[in-house]
Amino acid sequence: MKIIIIGGGISGLSAAYYAQKLVPDGQITLIEASDRWGGKITTQRVPFEAGDFIIEGGPDTFLATKPWGVTLCQELGLSDRLHGTNPHHKNTYVLHHNRLEPLPDGLAMMVPTDIPSILKSRLVSWPGKVRMGFDFLLPAHNGHHDESLGSFVSRRLGREAYENLIEPLMSGIYAGNGDRLSLQSTFPYLQDLESKHGSLARGALQMRKQMAARGSSTQGSRSAFLTPTTGLSEIVEALVTNLTHNGVEMRLNTQVSSIAYQDVAASWQVELENGESLQTDGVILAAPAFASASILSRLDPDLASVLQSIPYTSTATVTLAYRQSDLSRQLDGYGYVIPRREGRRALACTWTSTKFPHRAPSGCSLIRVFVGRAGQESDIRWDKDSLLELAREELELTLGITAEPLVSRVFIWEQAMPQYNLGHPEKLAKIEAALEKYSSLALAGNGYRGIGIPDCIHSGEMAIEKIISAHAQKCADMNLHILENSAHPG
Ligand SMILES: Cc1cc2nc3c(=O)[nH]c(=O)nc-3n(C[C@H](O)[C@H](O)[C@H](O)COP(=O)(O)OP(=O)(O)OC[C@H]3O[C@@H](n4cnc5c(N)ncnc54)[C@H](O)[C@@H]3O)c2cc1C
Repeated sequence: MKIIIIGGGISGLSAAYYAQKLVPDGQITLIEASDRWGGKITTQRVPFEAGDFIIEGGPDTFLATKPWGVTLCQELGLSDRLHGTNPHHKNTYVLHHNRLEPLPDGLAMMVPTDIPSILKSRLVSWPGKVRMGFDFLLPAHNGHHDESLGSFVSRRLGREAYENLIEPLMSGIYAGNGDRLSLQSTFPYLQDLESKHGSLARGALQMRKQMAARGSSTQGSRSAFLTPTTGLSEIVEALVTNLTHNGVEMRLNTQVSSIAYQDVAASWQVELENGESLQTDGVILAAPAFASASILSRLDPDLASVLQSIPYTSTATVTLAYRQSDLSRQLDGYGYVIPRREGRRALACTWTSTKFPHRAPSGCSLIRVFVGRAGQESDIRWDKDSLLELAREELELTLGITAEPLVSRVFIWEQAMPQYNLGHPEKLAKIEAALEKYSSLALAGNGYRGIGIPDCIHSGEMAIEKIISAHAQKCADMNLHILENSAHPG
């Protein structure tokens, strides 16, 4: 069996990993357009005096509560390399009227559950706090119709709680506009809390109790977020070693231009930009949705146009290293998020070396500024010098840092964050319906059912399962055909 996987980010690498595991005698080829593996995952290890700065260009951690990331790391022998977030300085701050205010305690899955802590918080005014309390009284909406995250949270907790508490947290994940994001596609559990418990806070409290009970018997005090010692690229490096060792053909600097299906041979023809043409039984497209749209445009223009309609937002990260003695403020938490209404061009700032202390040599601090959110791309100059200037302005304004950084790195991610806007569930239904025609073609990647690393790994695994079951069906049909012909020769 021949399988070609297009796209060498974490989704494509995972698809290749599960392909060689499930079909050890298969001929598997992984094709990547750029000159390196990992896609959005990239780590730079910068030596400095007594140690290294570990600088993540894209993601810096993954969620442990979704099992697929942890499982893959276990299988790759990386379990002992995984670190949780620092349990000693867990504060997160929110920029509010140009000051950093702590996020109230007891936010369970983004829902406030600790009433005294909300009452103390300066992030929401007294009328806003009273409005939040309505969540216990308001009737639940019936039915499962989709609505935007902004409309849902404003309906339950009030607009002020949405803008000052929930929107900045959500932005840190999707870089999106909450008034456009589909609740069903981004935070479906919020809708479940409302329908099952009649109130977000009641539901979140209940779930927190259940999770605590489960956690104490299984996971102990393990962190919800994990990352390998020298950065997420460890996962990419382990995958590449594993795949190379197991005979997967790995092709960098190779762009796929289109694919076509050949009925007679019941196989796929994969056309490369360099003019080469490859034959295969199954294809997995693990590129961003718009790139897969371009590859499919000749084969199936309707499917391509749905894929093309999934919007992506550009983002950038700017990492800066300082001596601790150059900082006027202690970085006593994981960092801060910036609500859209503050009007800043930065989205959030992670105090990396507090969140993960092993990421900076002793006596030094590492800070990462996120830039770019849906609808504000034109406010930003997308070149490295301007982004560095923007990040330094942000740090001066909020943290009073004026020192020259010891090290700085800027990563620009053009069209990187898919936006699961209202209508996304309908797009997924159309994509699934269109794919029914092609049993040996599957899609994987962050454009569809989850943008986090565990979701991407899962998407790769699911894609390979589809291809394998299509191949098993094809073999069964062929055997039946041979049997029928031998029973009725001539
Ligand atoms: C700044 C940033 C921070 C993030 N932080 C986190 C985080 O902390 N935790 C988390 O879980 N997630 C995070 N995410 C999200 C997560 O990193 C991504 O969703 C995930 O890495 C996407 O993986 P992927 O393989 O689906 O896509 P990609 O990484 O985009 O890989 C797709 C690959 O396909 C290749 N390709 C495209 N077209 C072709 C073609 N025609 N032929 C061949 N190859 C092609 C591309 O070159 C690319 O390498 C973050 C994302 C960004 C940008």
